[in-house]
Amino acid sequence: MLSKIKNYITDNTGILIRIDDIAENMNWDIMEKSELLFEKYSIKPVVGVIPNNKDSEFLVYPKKNDFWEKVRNWEKKGWEIAMHGNTHVYDNICSKSDDFFNYGGGSEFTGHSLDTQMLRIRNGLKKFEEENVKIRTFFAPNQTYDKNTFIALKNCGINEVLDGYGIMPYSENNIKFIPQLFNKILLLPFGIQSTKLHLNEWTQKDFNNFEKFVEKNKNKIITYDHALKRINNNMFYKFINILSKKILRLKRLSIDKKSEFKA
Ligand SMILES: [Zn+2]
Repeated sequence: MLSKIKNYITDNTGILIRIDDIAENMNWDIMEKSELLFEKYSIKPVVGVIPNNKDSEFLVYPKKNDFWEKVRNWEKKGWEIAMHGNTHVYDNICSKSDDFFNYGGGSEFTGHSLDTQMLRIRNGLKKFEEENVKIRTFFAPNQTYDKNTFIALKNCGINEVLDGYGIMPYSENNIKFIPQLFNKILLLPFGIQSTKLHLNEWTQKDFNNFEKFVEKNKNKIITYDHALKRINNNMFYKFINILSKKILRLKRLSIDKKSEFKA
């Protein structure tokens, strides 16, 4: 009995490495160090690629001319390439109540018409297609979505999203969600989680901390497919999902959005 419980916990506990804001222009120094680290421990992260980046915040970083070649190489290594918006330009501000996950703030999608949202997703997918990169999963810039975003995604053939509440992947309205709860890297004693890493903001010290985290927890770092296989819609996890949403909404009021490591 005890070993059964232990196995259940082991099978259903893990952290997926999700890296945001991967684009031609980015902090390549930290990205290359991270790639070597993943190589060393055979880790397969999810990289959120911005297909047509126009975000001026990122354009200040060095540009990699063979960027798409690099993306195809990552794909070959078994990394999951996710679509992270289209241009990553926030041209709308949404309130917490207009945002599906209640974060609120700048958005590339929330508040726009279904047609506009579909056009943006199609333009993004077109770029991936031209570059011969397969896309099955999406996460929006600034984690902001509305109901039309999910309709647009489904209309464009995407039904996996790397965002959401709870401690277990779940499906809702024919979309598979893998929860992403914390800004800091936090490993829960139970459940499947995803990180949200912004390498552009990292210093060498942040990387060193990440390296230590990976070394210590390498056995708990899972792949995207592993997370997908853990989709669980039972009532207990639904309850936890609602609870985590309520708790995190309150907690977020006091957390600095940008601190990934700074405790
Ligand atoms: Zn982003």
